[in-house]
Amino acid sequence: MPLGEFKAILRFFPNLKGVVLCGMYEPLLDSRIDFVLEVIERNQPQAEITIFTNGSMLTEGVSDILLSHRNFTNLVVSIHGFTKETYESVMPGMVWDKVYGNVLSFLKRPRKMWFGVPKPKVSVSFVRIKQNIHELEAFRNFWKDKVDVVSDFEVMNWKGAVDETKLLYEKPEHTRPCPMFEQPLVIDAYGNIVRCCYDFSTNYGHVLTGGFQEWLNKKRESDTYPTSGCKSCLGWRHY
Ligand code: SF4
Repeated sequence: MPLGEFKAILRFFPNLKGVVLCGMYEPLLDSRIDFVLEVIERNQPQAEITIFTNGSMLTEGVSDILLSHRNFTNLVVSIHGFTKETYESVMPGMVWDKVYGNVLSFLKRPRKMWFGVPKPKVSVSFVRIKQNIHELEAFRNFWKDKVDVVSDFEVMNWKGAVDETKLLYEKPEHTRPCPMFEQPLVIDAYGNIVRCCYDFSTNYGHVLTGGFQEWLNKKRESDTYPTSGCKSCLGWRHY
């Protein structure tokens, strides 16, 4: 998204509590990340900034850039494996030594500017699947005294876009109202408000041209799956 459009979208909302960079891309791949954070801080100076990353690009240089932004308050690293063998098989293309090294190094780095401003909270997350579930306890034990939060989640199938049958270690036989439908606004790189962070294909239109009003008017169709288009999604089922 061009930074001018990003700025216009930020200004559309009068008083944002937070901006989360995540979901549809790896934020640290964006060579403009320093400017992206600056645009948020200039236009929404009260907003806390959260970044989700897989940790592969969290080098010392990038860490220092992020830490130079006082509104950067939360870092969430998706890791999903404890041993090198499991991690690299469930995260193809990633290198265990690099990612674990990057996160451990980030934890030791100080904020060089903004004396007195606390460092961001760091969370590590683990999506539970058949291929890694045996490592969850070791993962928790390794990280629990190093980071602020260790979280684990059920696997999602992105409204049927991902075949979950080889990933599930248990059958989700229960239902619940999908919590993602009422979650904060999710905006894609084209400025469109999408249904949720697990469905980028359904959108309410561009934020600046009526999409926000459409989003406000949305209604649940059932107590479990929010709309008929969500039937194939795991979002309303659980173990
Ligand atoms: S059930 Fe619908 S709202 Fe819930 S996560 Fe899936 S696509 Fe999103």
